[in-house]
Amino acid sequence: MSDALESVKALADGFATTFKHLFRKPITESYPEYKRPLPARSRARIELTRDPDGDERCVACYLCSAACPVSCISMQSAEREDGRRYARWFRINFGRCIYCGLCEEACPTSAIQLTPDFETCKRDPLSMVFEKEDLLVDGCGKDPDYNFYKYAGVATPVGGKGEHVNESKPVNVRSNMP
Ligand code: SF4
Ligand code: SF4
Repeated sequence: MSDALESVKALADGFATTFKHLFRKPITESYPEYKRPLPARSRARIELTRDPDGDERCVACYLCSAACPVSCISMQSAEREDGRRYARWFRINFGRCIYCGLCEEACPTSAIQLTPDFETCKRDPLSMVFEKEDLLVDGCGKDPDYNFYKYAGVATPVGGKGEHVNESKPVNVRSNMP
């Protein structure tokens, strides 16, 4: 096909598409009166959840802040009298957050979760800084049954380390020394 013919065909295709859309019923969604429901796993405003017992899930392990590519999470760890760790304070700067979800992926306790609520924009950049009291919610979020302390570091009657089915024996790191 010659160049001229190809150009004419491309033009005709373009006009055909335009013509087709001329007779389509327009889809108008009046935001913010109507808010389109988003999938539960949409990534927007972040919250800190609780375990099914109502305790704070966050154990202030700093993994989320280490994983965050824009360094917008900061916290300070503390310990309860029973030895359980928690975040004395926990801060997210939503002015910098890119809602990538890496913090949620990194979290071993399922504490930090992204929600579909994307309406976090504010005129004052400082009001985009959320403290722990703004982030902590009463519910369990997406993982309602998960309780980190029921699984991690718990002795089982099945056997010690390396004695479970298909489990390797613990490595003696000292045996690797020269
Ligand atoms: S969603 Fe991404 S950018 Fe936002 S706090 Fe988590 S890791 Fe950081
Ligand atoms: S939110 Fe999760 S990853 Fe971040 S400090 Fe708490 S327990 Fe660790």
